Amino acid sequence: MSDYIKSLIAEVKAKNPGEPEFHQAVEEVAESLSIVFEKHPEYRTAKILERIIEPERVIMFRVPWVDDQGEIFVNKGYRIEMNSAIGPYKGGLRFHPSVNLSILKFLAFEQVFKNSLTTLPMGGGKGGSDFDPKGKSDLKIMRFCQAFMSELFRHIGSNTDVPAGDIGVGGREIGYLFGQYKKLRNEFTGVLTGKGINWGGSLIRPEATGYGSVYFAAEMLQTKGETLEGKICLVSGSGNVAQYTIEKILDLGGKPVTLSDSNGYIYDEEGINREKLAFVMSLKNVRRGRIKEYTDKYKSAVYKEINLKDESNPLWNHKADCAFPSATQNEINGKDAQNLLNNGVYVVSEGSNMPTTLDGVKIFLDNKILYGPGKAANAGGVAVSGLEMTQNSMRLPWTREEVDNRLRMIMHEIHRTCIEMADRFGTPGNYVNGANIGGFLKVADAMIDQGVV
Ligand code: NAP
Repeated sequence: MSDYIKSLIAEVKAKNPGEPEFHQAVEEVAESLSIVFEKHPEYRTAKILERIIEPERVIMFRVPWVDDQGEIFVNKGYRIEMNSAIGPYKGGLRFHPSVNLSILKFLAFEQVFKNSLTTLPMGGGKGGSDFDPKGKSDLKIMRFCQAFMSELFRHIGSNTDVPAGDIGVGGREIGYLFGQYKKLRNEFTGVLTGKGINWGGSLIRPEATGYGSVYFAAEMLQTKGETLEGKICLVSGSGNVAQYTIEKILDLGGKPVTLSDSNGYIYDEEGINREKLAFVMSLKNVRRGRIKEYTDKYKSAVYKEINLKDESNPLWNHKADCAFPSATQNEINGKDAQNLLNNGVYVVSEGSNMPTTLDGVKIFLDNKILYGPGKAANAGGVAVSGLEMTQNSMRLPWTREEVDNRLRMIMHEIHRTCIEMADRFGTPGNYVNGANIGGFLKVADAMIDQGVV
């Protein structure tokens, strides 16, 4: 690591105390970019990375709401508008009790590079609340979403900032948020993505992140002349990304064997087939139950509790070929990374954002496995959000096939960019460098063109 990068990271830590996830995300990108700054000192002179690291705007607000019994609650609301050099701010909203400034800044920072990689004109942003939707009635969720949008609406717009879903924000929440925005603004625009099909949504948007992460794995495997056919796959999470990751693994002939939630995970040696996936979708999306219930229905599976604070996560300690982390950040630490390698895993495609700690990433890179970092592998979701924006602007919906083909093409392009950039900067096969550099260059050049703003 160059002295310049070392001092830049030290400054980020000093200026943004108590934000470990944000420091981690910056450190990973900055390390990749040192090889760019050696060849192109003009980016350093223009202080491009320093400018990308500082959000253009951070909005923090109070979200007061009243539950069914008349009790008053107060949550924190955030929107980080990170970078708009190549398009309106774009990125999801996360509702989870762990949400804080550090987590949202790391996500918004990652989003800038990810969105740039998609080939579409989208800047980076992220937002959310420490509100916990788990176990709450639809009425409470609606009240909270309305209260949240009652402040957020004045900061967003179809040409300014277009939020979408993330952890804890799915179709139901987007519906309530959109309804409130429409009421307050008295206009029907594509201000949120992930909308329902009858009111401006895009086909394949719910599937896009999971499908995209599997397409990315297939692209990586193709570089070795292999396919997903017959591959045993570990998948974490059981929400939106995990569910459609399983579906696409099945489409491509793979065998998924795990799923999890924040309490524990199931391991089904016989494989999670389409019938079992349908059960999980109903369990999680309709009944909103816990993954443990899977073992009540399917005796081939075993359940074990997980605590991400433990030394290692047992989900990553099974014989397999591929891993698709699809739950949350830092769910694979150094020990887990080593366990994955010891169990034969040689493909990791990150559906979740920053699921691997820095020491885990180093282990994957040192062992030269096919490792697709989140900002490349899970970019399919925001890519189809971009396609939803396009359809909204045209007021013309595309078919499933049209959107899926475009998604596949975009994932192919992202993969090609990663390979090309990694080659061009002397680190062939390093998708981390490829994604960071590919995402950076487009944004950096746009920032130089637009002057110091
Ligand atoms: P989701 O539908 O809310 O599902 C999240 C899943 O992860 C749930 O099974 C949840 O379990 C589990 N989880 C959440 N926090 C956890 C924690 N601290 N420890 C253990 N498990 C935890 O969310 P999602 O949309 O699938 O998002 C999953 C990941 O993909 C996130 O990292 C997100 O940023 C990333 N991502 C999502 C999209 C998208 O389009 N949705 C796009 C790109 C990246 P519980 O139900 O027990 O909380």
